[in-house]
Order: sequence, then structure tokens, then C-alpha cells
Amino acid sequence: MSDSYSLLILPGDGIGPEVMVEVVKIIDWFQTHRGMSFEVTQDLVGGAAYDEHGSPCADETLEKALSVDAVLLGAVGGPQYDSLDFSVKPERGLLRLRKELDLFANLRPAQCFDALADFSSLKREVVAGLDILIVRELTSGVYFGEPRGIHADDNNPDNEGGRVGVNTQRYTSGEIRRVARSAFDLAGQRSGRVCSMEKANVMESGILWREEVQWVHDNEYPDIELSHMYADNGAMQLVRNPRQFDVIVTDNLFGDILSDAAAMLTGSLGMLPSASLGAKMENGRPRAMYEPVHGSAPDIAGQGKANPIACILSFAMALRYSFDRGDAAADLERAVERVLADGVRTADLMGPDGGTPVSTAEMGDRIVAA
Ligand code: ATP
Ligand code: MG
Repeated sequence: MSDSYSLLILPGDGIGPEVMVEVVKIIDWFQTHRGMSFEVTQDLVGGAAYDEHGSPCADETLEKALSVDAVLLGAVGGPQYDSLDFSVKPERGLLRLRKELDLFANLRPAQCFDALADFSSLKREVVAGLDILIVRELTSGVYFGEPRGIHADDNNPDNEGGRVGVNTQRYTSGEIRRVARSAFDLAGQRSGRVCSMEKANVMESGILWREEVQWVHDNEYPDIELSHMYADNGAMQLVRNPRQFDVIVTDNLFGDILSDAAAMLTGSLGMLPSASLGAKMENGRPRAMYEPVHGSAPDIAGQGKANPIACILSFAMALRYSFDRGDAAADLERAVERVLADGVRTADLMGPDGGTPVSTAEMGDRIVAA
């Protein structure tokens, strides 16, 4: 792997550009102080791209995304775009990128910073030190399965209302195996434990899921510890004793629900990073897009109030998973931890006892200083 990292930055809309300014400060720091070399390109996505090109993700932008090591995205959308046609909505820009890059593994860490443990929906004793990673299959399952639709239920006179809504949960063994490999690879860089969640007790796709994950384990990753759990039990365990988990791998629908539940273990939306990974490219790096979990937050956009940490931690994930610089990622995460421990808070992290929040820029500066 080369020592130069190419990165496409897509700030997007709302608070996206505001938080991205802080990430750029961090990138500059790593270039100046750690001799790392980033080739950074910036482009438009979402509403900003629609305003400029009439499309939420222009072809040139997609080409750039396909040519770099990693994409870092801020957020897309805003009320001014609500009335647009579905095909050009800001969110479509994001979907286009995900689809064209074929990003099938969505990574959502739930990490509890000690200074924020009281923000959790759970007691401090349950979440202190929590560090889990949920890997959600992102390109298949019930969200995409055919047939789907709402039909007249003609032959069923007992159906009051007379309609039926249909979705299909469909997984191929190949789709399961590739996301399982992502999870095992990630576990190999962590505590080495994977828990796979499905409902093999009631779903055929769940049975296949369990068998294929087990197959990948037995044939390719025998040294990783693998367990299986029904997703409903998994939901319960996430709230009862979340620290029992290291990496959780699950399908698109269960992953959607379980990762939101896990997010609430750690506190504010302003703290949550994510990554979406695809197949390995020729240079050995996976196709990748990193973005904060939060949206464009139009209610606070332009006011310097946004918490940049979710986006900064997303960049830390890029350092770890795209650039193979887990050391730099850990340094960055430690800097965030130290600033929080010093009591530095953006408005979203203020407890009921108040205090004076810092601005987006001050938070970024403090993290750079740390
Ligand atoms: P989307 O549909 O794009 O996901 P959303 O409406 O679900 O957007 P967000 O845009 O994420 O949600 O905002 C939800 C709430 O969280 C808002 O009140 C917003 O101000 C707050 N919020 C989101 N991100 C941040 C952040 N980085 N810092 C501070 N507050 C935030
Ligand atoms: Mg949302």
C-alpha cells in the first residue's frame, strides 16, 4: 500500500459543510505532524449538487468516487428540497453512490466515551467502556426483494379493506458470505469475536444466513470466535448487557433496528460515525464511504452549533479501515476522549445542569490541540 491516501470529500448540505471544515483541520494536522499525505478532492452532493447540476450526484462526482481510496460525506437534504421529484431528491445522491460503489457492509460502532456515559439511555455501570461494532448488510434483504407492492386482494372476501402489502426477504449465499467476511476481517482487528443475528427459527433466509456465516467461519476464519443469536434475543441482550458483544453481523432490516438501538446506548446523534464498505479494489483497499449517522440538521444549520465529532470519528474510521492506520485512528479517538474529559461540550452534549457550549469550530480546534 502506498503512503499517499486519496480522499473525496463531499460536504453536502445543512451542517455537512460546517462539520467537514473541522475534519479538514484534522487532516491538515496529520499531514503536518505525522507526515501523512492525503490527496483531497472536494465536490458537491445532495441538494448542493442539485442546485448546481440539476442532479444530486453528477456523473463526474461518481467517477471521482470510484477512483479514490475513500469517500467522506457530510450530510444531505433540507426542507428546501422536500418538494423535488423523487428521482432528484438529495438522498438519491447518497443512494446512487452506495449502489454504484456496491457498499454492502454498513459499519456502525457504538462506543461509549466515559465522559458521556451519563448520556446513555442505560445506567453508567452497563455502558462504561462499551465498544461494539454492528455490521449491517446494506444492499439486499427485504428492502430490495421482489416481488413487492400493494395489491388488491381479490380472492379473499374475508379481508376487510381488500388489499395486501407484500415484501420479500431474499438473500443469496454469496450476499451473506461477503458481508460475513467483512465482519470476520473486522473482528480480526478487534477482540476477535463475532455474533451473528437472524431469526432462523422462523425465516428461511435466516436459516441460510446462519449456515453461510458458519461456513465462512469454518472454512476461512476458524480462529475467530463465532456465536449465533436470534435477533429478538439480540435486541434484549443489547439493552441488558451490551458489553458481551464485540462485532455483531446481521441483515439489512435487523441491522437497521439493532444499530439504532445500539446508538442510544452511547448518547447523542452528534457523536455517531459510520462506514460503508464494499469489495476490495486492486490496491487491496475496500471501496468505502464514511459519514456521520446524523442528517443535515436544518434546525441548527448555519449557526455554528453542530457537533463535528461524528464526522471526525468517521474520518478516524477511514484512517483505520481504508488507510490501514489504526494507530492514527486511535490517536484521534483519544484526542476526542480527552477533550470530552476536559468538559468541552457542544450544545447537543450539554446536560440539564447547563454550562456554556462551545461552537463547532472551537470543538474542532480543541480536538486538534489535543
Ligand atoms: P435525516 O433525514 O437527514 O436523517 P433527520 O431529520 O432524521 O435527518 P438529523 O438531521 O440528524 O435528523 O437531526 C435530528 C436532530 O438531531 C436535530 O434536532 C438536529 O439538530 C440534531 N443533530 C443532528 N446532528 C447533530 C450534530 N452533529 N450536532 C448537534 N445536533 C445534531
Ligand atoms: Mg434520519
